Amino acid sequence: MSNTTFSKILPAVNKSASGINEQSGMRYIPFNKPFLTGNETIYIQQAVQSGKISGDGMFTKKCHEFFEQKFGFKKCLLTTSCTDALEMAALLIDIKEGDEVILPSYTFVSTANAFVLRGAKLVFADSSKENPNFDVHSIEPLINAKTKAIVPVHYAGIACDMDPIMQLAKKYNLFVIEDAAQAVDSYYNGKPLGSIGHLAAFSFHETKNVISGEGGMLAINDERFIERAEIIREKGTNRSQFFRGEVDKYGWVDIGSSFLPSDIIAAFLFAQLENLDTIQAKRKLLWQTYRDELAPLNNKLGFPFIPQYASNNAHMFYIVCNSLEERTALIRLLKEHNILSVFHYLSLHKSEFYKDKHDGRELVNSDHYTDCLLRLPMYFELEIADVKRICSLIKKFYE
Ligand SMILES: *Cc1c(COP(=O)(O)O)cnc(C)c1O
Repeated sequence: MSNTTFSKILPAVNKSASGINEQSGMRYIPFNKPFLTGNETIYIQQAVQSGKISGDGMFTKKCHEFFEQKFGFKKCLLTTSCTDALEMAALLIDIKEGDEVILPSYTFVSTANAFVLRGAKLVFADSSKENPNFDVHSIEPLINAKTKAIVPVHYAGIACDMDPIMQLAKKYNLFVIEDAAQAVDSYYNGKPLGSIGHLAAFSFHETKNVISGEGGMLAINDERFIERAEIIREKGTNRSQFFRGEVDKYGWVDIGSSFLPSDIIAAFLFAQLENLDTIQAKRKLLWQTYRDELAPLNNKLGFPFIPQYASNNAHMFYIVCNSLEERTALIRLLKEHNILSVFHYLSLHKSEFYKDKHDGRELVNSDHYTDCLLRLPMYFELEIADVKRICSLIKKFYE
């Protein structure tokens, strides 16, 4: 696929940063650059002109329908962030003081915070050797009478092995909440990620594949949660039912908060969703270029492992260096060439906040990714030539 395929939606893009570093003459390649498809501001204007810009307006409904139809989620509710969607999930499954939640240590703080806010104890699982997703085989021994939920994080949009996880959930009567923040339009054995667990949380933060600045969504696959999710999202009131004419007055019926985004945010998001296939095609092309160009280094460093059951939504391209020192040197080299590469999570079980609460188990793979994983630039407007230049620098580094 040539770059011209995508040029039709390029003109609206902010071209203010020329991308050329004045001093060196080298093109500056950021790690991420938010991509505008062109219709964002048009739809925002429509939302504004409609006279209803609070939550659950016309564009919010369009976004909900898009996701429900394309991915078969039973019910979708836009939220102001994935963090909020995770917090809603913790409220919905009634996490209480002392409940235990199993999650990877190698993840974003929000995966953990959502449950800690409700008083849960975190039980961290190690990443697998093959990729940063938690090792499914390590989970059963972590389950006890207090365990309430398992939270698989689909790192880089690559699916966790969901069948064994759902079997464990059934056997021990647990809830599964997918952290699908990075996993839009990705699949497990043909099933969309976010459609398998009881609940799932997506992110539309500007670093994700489809964006709205800040933004997120709760996907509800277990119907038992739908009514209460609407209430929790609307400050604990049954306002949604009232607007559908199901009750003749609305009031305070449960705990809740304000988790719904303005329709202005939804208008932005809808413009992105209409271009989902184009965005994904370009990202996959960039991803494959990285993979092919770096193939000569297969024996020298680690690459993303995509199991048979998983698809690749090209959320991220990363490499796994052999040591922290090596990674630091490579980051420095790329930076000298005006290329921004970034490492990722720091094991949560060793974090300042949680290290004293962790049960002391060593999580060696999580620590390895903490020290050695390096993410390379990935965004819609990145050019194939940029990727090739980045790869030739990396190859030189490893020569
Ligand atoms: C981005 C991300 C989040 C948080 O998303 P927000 O929308 O910024 O709240 C949570 N979990 C993972 C795995 C993420 O990558």
